[in-house]
Amino acid sequence: MQSLKNSLWVVALAVTVGAVFLFAMDDKARSQTNSSPGSEIDVSECASACGLPSHVDLSGDFPTQRTEAEWRERLTDLQYHVAREQGTERPFANPYHDNKRTGLYRCIGCDTPLFSSTDKFDSGTGWPSFTRPIDARTLGEHRDTSYGMVRTEVHCAVCGSHQGHVFPDGPGPNGLRYCINSASLRFEETKTVAEIVALVEAWYGKSQ
Ligand SMILES: [Zn+2]
Repeated sequence: MQSLKNSLWVVALAVTVGAVFLFAMDDKARSQTNSSPGSEIDVSECASACGLPSHVDLSGDFPTQRTEAEWRERLTDLQYHVAREQGTERPFANPYHDNKRTGLYRCIGCDTPLFSSTDKFDSGTGWPSFTRPIDARTLGEHRDTSYGMVRTEVHCAVCGSHQGHVFPDGPGPNGLRYCINSASLRFEETKTVAEIVALVEAWYGKSQ
């Protein structure tokens, strides 16, 4: 009788351990399913792996040139002030600082894909903030010593439009915080991260 009781205990224990194990597995599977769709897709990788479009030669002046009249026609007064006169828009009172939607951020001046929503984070500064550009080749940098500070200015390397600044206090693996003006960007919403990749690849002329 005692040995039967012991056997029952062993069976009960085995069933319990099995159930806990299955629950844990299920939990793991659930958490994987819950992670943001397409988060395993690296938008930056798809851009840096391919060459720039044939009309983009970054060795000399900015490839996209416009007359003052053309810039004025393309941009609103605020966009012109920020992008063409290195201005800064007001924090929090700009369209993308709190934008959590999935999509692509293009340069307002020439539509080059500059940032992805997958690299956007809430910095609390009131400006859209990213941990990295989609492709470092398309984002130029200048040392900016205005206002008694040493900052690194960033601009679109294709048309020269001012974007914002990059600071060494970001949360990502590279420790950078790209503090960008909404006025320098045009957001294109997508349903998935894969669609962002497709838009980026289309700009790079890659069809796969
Ligand atoms: Zn541009």
